Amino acid sequence: MAIACPDCATLQTIPPLPPWSVARCRVCGLALERTAGRTIDGALAFALSALLLLVPANWLPLMTVSFAGAARQSVLGSGVWVLWQQGWPLLSIQIAFLVLILPFVQFGLLTGVLLALRLGYRPGWLGRAFRWATKLAPWAMPDVFLLGCVVGYSRVVAMLPARVGPGGWCLAGAALFSLVTEATLDPRRVWRMIAPEHAVPAGPVLSCRSCDMVLPMEREDRPCPRCDARLRAREPDSLTRTMALVAAGFLLYGPANLYPMTNTFTFEGTVHHTIYSGIEQLVQARLWPLAVLIFCTSIAIPFLKLAGLTWLILSVRRASRAALLARTRLHRFIEKIGRWSNIDVFTIAVFAPLIQFGDLASSQAGQGANAFLLVVMLTMLASITFDPRLMWDLAGRRNG
Ligand SMILES: [Zn+2]
Ligand SMILES: [Zn+2]
Repeated sequence: MAIACPDCATLQTIPPLPPWSVARCRVCGLALERTAGRTIDGALAFALSALLLLVPANWLPLMTVSFAGAARQSVLGSGVWVLWQQGWPLLSIQIAFLVLILPFVQFGLLTGVLLALRLGYRPGWLGRAFRWATKLAPWAMPDVFLLGCVVGYSRVVAMLPARVGPGGWCLAGAALFSLVTEATLDPRRVWRMIAPEHAVPAGPVLSCRSCDMVLPMEREDRPCPRCDARLRAREPDSLTRTMALVAAGFLLYGPANLYPMTNTFTFEGTVHHTIYSGIEQLVQARLWPLAVLIFCTSIAIPFLKLAGLTWLILSVRRASRAALLARTRLHRFIEKIGRWSNIDVFTIAVFAPLIQFGDLASSQAGQGANAFLLVVMLTMLASITFDPRLMWDLAGRRNG
């Protein structure tokens, strides 16, 4: 029963694995299957817990700040609302999707699929629903938002008395369960339960990039029988699209770093905070681990992603065969790490609704935040659009 490695396109058959073990691609080392336990019950329990905790995490107050006898509370949606009112619709809508809408959609789909499988139902929409749950996983960011809250809280508490509310604890629970769900979910087993794989068909083959099923080449441009994704031998125009996204990312990288992320107005004057001066502020408050975290996620990782993707594009254009394994690993790393760059932007969404004390002190997002979030989104899209199998094709390997 064959699948094709999504990174290097090598056809392989995975033997039945014992619990808690990993099957790696024999060519590129990608973990093709990770088993956790003997059933899907664990993943179902954790996904359902995350979904249920998201409800109070959205409704109950995240944090309360007091200043000059007044108190301000924030719930998950208030950052989105305040940014909208301050005239940043694009920023506000993107954060609403990443933090409010997609976590519900992703955990709703995942819980629905696992529950249906557990109860023995096999409706036609299962494959499509699981494909979307997998596709949306990097874009649903309760865990990244939680780290944003931790940084935001540390910044606020250095100046004003602040308290974490019940919504904050529920968010922490939801984020924790989302990480445990990822660790205990065995997607390969779920795909097999939705529809088993077949032996390698005779003649030329292609593989589905969503569920890795191997199918005859004649099926190109038709929907995958298991997950309903459109079948393509290789991602169409992968290089051109990735190049366009990376170029747009480079253009916005400068403004993201130069323009202020936030402008804070107090009776003493206006303070503009760029990413860099935000890090300086954390260093002055002796919050070293957070300063290192923001430096890595806001400055180092976006640059590494843009430079790394440029290298990947150039290497394919030059038909290079060097460092194939290193380039494949770099692409995997860029794809995994990308979402964590949002911590600093989320800090603003936590911060902005709390620091609203009229003329005494108020905080607004700046142009930098808008540009920065776009850099993160563009580089995430670019790493998804880049098809790593193109690098292996050039090495003259047969493929699926
Ligand atoms: Zn591989
Ligand atoms: Zn498929």
